[in-house]
Order: sequence, then C-alpha cells, then structure tokens
Amino acid sequence: MTINGECFCGGVSYSISGPLRDARSCHCSRCRKAFSSQASAYALVNPEAFEWTSGEELLTLYQSQPGFGFQFCSICGSTLCGTYDDAVHGVTLGCINGDPEVEIGRHIFVGSKAKWEVMPDGVLQYEGAVPSDT
Ligand SMILES: [Zn+2]
Ligand SMILES: [Zn+2]
Repeated sequence: MTINGECFCGGVSYSISGPLRDARSCHCSRCRKAFSSQASAYALVNPEAFEWTSGEELLTLYQSQPGFGFQFCSICGSTLCGTYDDAVHGVTLGCINGDPEVEIGRHIFVGSKAKWEVMPDGVLQYEGAVPSDT
C-alpha cells in the first residue's frame, strides 16, 4: 500500500510505502499547542518507508525536546510529521489524503485535556500514557 499526504497549501507532499501503525490522539497541553487543536492525531511510520515527494525545502523543524521535533510547512503552517534524531517517525493524520487504513485506537493524557473539550462516548481513554508505553 502507498499512503500520500500533503500540507494545506499543497507545497509539501510525501509518500509512505507501507502501513501506518498505532494511531492515537494525545490530549496533553503540549500537543494542543503543537497541533493548534484539542488534541494531536498521529500514527507511527517506519522511517525507511517515508519519503518527501515535493517541497522538502519548505519544511521547518521545531525541536520541542532534544532529538524530538515537528516538521511543518513554512508557507501554510501545517504540521506534517514528528521526527526523532532527524528521521520521520510519525505523521499527522490530518495531512493524509484519503484513507490511511488506520483508526485512532486510543486517546491518551485525557486527564489533562482542555476544559472546553467534550470527549466522545465509546472511545478508549487513558488518564495518562498507555501503561505499556512507559
Ligand atoms: Zn503548505
Ligand atoms: Zn501529547
């Protein structure tokens, strides 16, 4: 399978040759800022399966912690991916075109969600991290 994604203005695009995994949404205060939204929504990707297909020169990297960063389009501001040691390890679900064939499996750090966010019924929620991740 091939998954394609692009930013809002279309200047930056990418291709992934393989499945995404572990799609999730994080409701912590850091993700709210990074995604300008109530939560993040992203999935993990094998770095070797990921390739920029246009506009790589438009990307800006913001390192939020040593080694960990976000790459976003310097023209339109879409956050496209998360990086670790300069390799793409996750992609934002909002920038994917079409069906990525994954669904958000769990909502994490719901214990620090924004006051104004109303969680939908029936989703798997964790107050903090997923226990198996820590
Ligand atoms: Zn853009
Ligand atoms: Zn978070």
